[in-house]
Amino acid sequence: MDQVSIVEVAPRDGLQHEPVLVSPLDRIALIERLAEAGLAAIEAGSFVSPKVMPQMAGTGEVLHAFAGRPQLRLPVLIATEKGLDQALAAGARDIVVAAAASDSYSRRSLNGSIAEAIERLRPLIGRAAAAGMRVRASISCALGCPYEGSIAVSQVVDLAEALHGLGAHEILLADTIGVGTPGRAKALVRAVATIVPIGRLAVHFHDTYGQGLANIYAALEEGIRTVDAAVGGLGCCTFAKGAAGNVATEDLVYMLHGLGMKTGINLEQLVEVAAWISADLNRPLSSHVGRALRAA
Ligand code: MG
Repeated sequence: MDQVSIVEVAPRDGLQHEPVLVSPLDRIALIERLAEAGLAAIEAGSFVSPKVMPQMAGTGEVLHAFAGRPQLRLPVLIATEKGLDQALAAGARDIVVAAAASDSYSRRSLNGSIAEAIERLRPLIGRAAAAGMRVRASISCALGCPYEGSIAVSQVVDLAEALHGLGAHEILLADTIGVGTPGRAKALVRAVATIVPIGRLAVHFHDTYGQGLANIYAALEEGIRTVDAAVGGLGCCTFAKGAAGNVATEDLVYMLHGLGMKTGINLEQLVEVAAWISADLNRPLSSHVGRALRAA
């Protein structure tokens, strides 16, 4: 039976733009409940200035709470040397770094062109890898940019090749604003997989236009077996106006189990986590599966 690794991103990507601040203790509880539901890889936070992102303050505290759980992978987002120092000090074993396939988006959200971003990531990835960390390198705007519109596949392939060459262990193709459709998702994965081994690729889709699961299915057909999702479909994007949330983990798990694929996740338990965190954020439960199972 095929096994799919789901990377749960709600505690970081999901919460980082929420107007409601979730305390480190509640984020620890969220991660604990996600782990109990069977998730083995959970984005735990980020080391960026709390002035810029108060939602992620206390990420060190969150990591410390799981210090004795080496079987849990808890990637944290970093963007600077200082962030890497903090991640190392907190005992992080997995980091996420971000680049973008669109120059305009890169300049606005990452403070530099694509080329500058690569040069900034070179020493960061090098140091992290030398310290034994596992590095996920995310490529934003892989299927479209809020400023430039559609992005050439070759631009994504070149960036993936550069990041892979710098030593990133995994390249994450992210449709940041959720404009992709399955044919394009398939073509993108196929093109990048000619350069980066498919086992080192992962995908991150948003549901803005309702294409999230269809895009994931297309990526699975190309051999992708690592997929991001956020419980309750949490998350949006500050730099992408109107972008809807991440694909809901419970919708993804329902589809994967229906396909006979193994995830190690207990769907009923996961839906309870989705309902709990959504209520905590004063949001309605937005996932299809969450609503259906709770109504049943
Ligand atoms: Mg996202």
